[in-house]
Amino acid sequence: MTSKLQFRLMAAFTLVILVTTGIVFFSINHATQNEIHRFRERINQAGIARMGVELSQYYSQQGSWEGIQPFVEHWGNLSKQRIILTDINGIVVADSDSKLLGELYEPTNSTGISLSPPWAGNTIGTFYINPDSPPELGLIALQIIFRRIGLFFICGGLIAVAVAFLITFFLSRRILAPVEELTSAAKRLGDGDFSQRVQVKDKSELGELAGTFNSMASDLEKAEQLRRNMVADIAHELRTPLSNIKGHLEAVRDGVMKPDANTIRSLDEEATLLSRLIDDLQELSLAEAGELKLVRQAENITELIKQATAGVQPQATAKGLSLSIDLPDKLPPANIDSHRISQVLRNLLENAMANTAKGGTITVTAKQEGKYLEVAVSDTGEGIPAEDLPNIFERFYRVDKSRARATGGTGLGLTISKRLVEAHGGTIEAQSELGKGSRFSFTIPIAE
Ligand code: ADP
Repeated sequence: MTSKLQFRLMAAFTLVILVTTGIVFFSINHATQNEIHRFRERINQAGIARMGVELSQYYSQQGSWEGIQPFVEHWGNLSKQRIILTDINGIVVADSDSKLLGELYEPTNSTGISLSPPWAGNTIGTFYINPDSPPELGLIALQIIFRRIGLFFICGGLIAVAVAFLITFFLSRRILAPVEELTSAAKRLGDGDFSQRVQVKDKSELGELAGTFNSMASDLEKAEQLRRNMVADIAHELRTPLSNIKGHLEAVRDGVMKPDANTIRSLDEEATLLSRLIDDLQELSLAEAGELKLVRQAENITELIKQATAGVQPQATAKGLSLSIDLPDKLPPANIDSHRISQVLRNLLENAMANTAKGGTITVTAKQEGKYLEVAVSDTGEGIPAEDLPNIFERFYRVDKSRARATGGTGLGLTISKRLVEAHGGTIEAQSELGKGSRFSFTIPIAE
């Protein structure tokens, strides 16, 4: 089936050939006509001049026009032209057709050429070449020639169009084959088959398009995989606290457990974890959709660090941890949403406290790094195994699932922190040595 694009290509090629043939034909026609005209004029002029000289010579030798008729007849036969010669009185003294001899000649549509050689002092006669034939006779012959040429052009043009049609048909099929492949792959992709890839080895823009399509398809496949994983992760994360709650309630119902303060506290903890999980998920989904509204202004980071540290101090004291701040005297203000950056700081501090044993130290530092401020939370805790370190910013990733759950973590804290820092144009990273401690640092832009 001929596709629309293929038809358009064929029509375009045909049009180009027709227009080119037309232009070539008209310009050749015009140029040839001019040239033939000029050539004819030149030959005529040369012939007339020669005839004038010969007639004058004849007259000068003979002293009259007597006996000129055979010569004129001969010239007329040779040149296939009618030649009429009159004397000074207009009486025909020679006619190549011998018809008007001796008659007074009054030409209707032709002016004669006067014979006035310098030695004679005056006019000795007048001669006419083709006086009665239509002046455009030559042109009629030319028109016939041009008509022929035109016919050749039309035939040539038609052959060119037919050849172009065939060539375009096969060429466009070759060109459009990858487009068709891309179209059907895109359709299947649209129907949800994300494994679609196209094999276009073309090095032109089509090859580039195919490459872009393939990378888009693989991005979509990854996004789809992520979405599926996320749904599975969320279901899994929700199931654990819910089944704990259910288990407790069933135990109470069956009389295995008493509905005492302990049971209620356990239930409350699980319910709190559930609601934190839902809050964190909501925040993460906003951050990932780029819909977090940041209210940014110049903020004193020293103050912010002091407040966040003071906020967790009671927990640190209760856990037997020492919490310290080590900041330079003066730091430039940061262009941040203080609420969000406090949230990041609090998350890093809580993580440090949760993963550092009694007697350990947690230190918060900050310094200027070019146009950014770098804030770091270091601890002397258990550290993170090297194989886990690259994954800890992924959602629900926990080094030790059972323990992390005990600390009430949702496994989303670092993921949210990363998104928040990135929304500010900064970066976040972690360094850690197992058994010695960890250092989490992030950068935020300095206010202009
Ligand atoms: P959670 O809610 O479990 O704390 P996070 O995303 O904040 O989730 O952290 C992910 C995991 O990274 C934690 O479960 C923990 O295993 C590890 N982690 C985070 N901070 C530290 C730290 N300072 N020291 C050791 N491990 C840490």
